[in-house]
Amino acid sequence: MTAAWTASKPANESRARTVALGFLRAEHIKDITLEDLDELMRSQNIIVRYRPLTNAASQIVQKGAAAFVTVDSGITSQGRRRFCVVHEFGHFMLGHVATAMRCTEEKFHTWYRTNGQEIEANAFASEFLMPEDLYKAAIAGRPPKREVLNNLADKFGVSMTAACVRYAEVGSHPCVLFVSRAGEVLWYRASQDAVGKHLRRGDKVSSWSAAGQYYADGEMDESDDLVDYHAWFVDDDEGQRIHETPIFMPAVNTVLSMVWFE
Ligand SMILES: [Zn+2]
Repeated sequence: MTAAWTASKPANESRARTVALGFLRAEHIKDITLEDLDELMRSQNIIVRYRPLTNAASQIVQKGAAAFVTVDSGITSQGRRRFCVVHEFGHFMLGHVATAMRCTEEKFHTWYRTNGQEIEANAFASEFLMPEDLYKAAIAGRPPKREVLNNLADKFGVSMTAACVRYAEVGSHPCVLFVSRAGEVLWYRASQDAVGKHLRRGDKVSSWSAAGQYYADGEMDESDDLVDYHAWFVDDDEGQRIHETPIFMPAVNTVLSMVWFE
C-alpha cells in the first residue's frame, strides 16, 4: 500500500492473512484447492446460496449463530464464485458483520480503494485460497507468462485477476500488474522487488503497450512479448527488458497487463 491508498480506517491486511492461515491450520486443511468450499462453510454454520442479486456480487446476513452467504447466480466463473464465498467468510471471521453486508462488484477491486474492511476481506480470501507456500511451490520460479497464470488460476480455482495479484505478492519475478479501463490505469499492484517509476492510477496507457494497442484499434495480441520499457515506465530504462502479458476483458473494456522483468 502506498500512502495515497491510505484508508480512513487503515486496513490491517496482515491480521486478515494471519486469521485466514490460523483457520486453515486449526481445521488441518493442507491443500485448500481440494476442498468443497460450500461444504466447508456448512461445517462453520454458514449456508451458501446462489441466487440473483441486484446491485451486489455477494452478501452475508447473520442470524443468531448461523450466517447466510448469497452469491449472485449471474456469476458463472467458478473462480469468482469461490472468491466471493471466501470474501464473505472473511468479513465474518474478521468481525465485520453486525447483521448484514452487501459487497458490490466494485468492492472486489478494492486493492486500491479506501474501505479498510473490503481490503481486509480481499486479503483474507487471497491468503485463504492461495496460501503463500502452496502458491510459491506452484510457481516454481517461473515468470508470469500467460500459461503460468492460467495454470495458477485453474489450480487454485480463482479468477485471473486474483491469480495475478497473488503472483505480484509472492511470485519469483519482479512485476507490476496494471489494470486499465478505457485507456487509463485504474489500479496496479507492484511486487516488492519491482524497481523503476511506472504509470499510476489515472495515467493514460501508452500505445506502445499491448493494452494501448487494444484501446487504439481493438487488436488483442495475446503474446507474452517484449515491450518498450517506456510503454509502462517513465524513468530511464538502464537497459531493462520488460514483457507484457495482456489479459483482455472486452466486455468491460478492461485489460489486465502483467508486466514483468526478464
Ligand atoms: Zn465485502
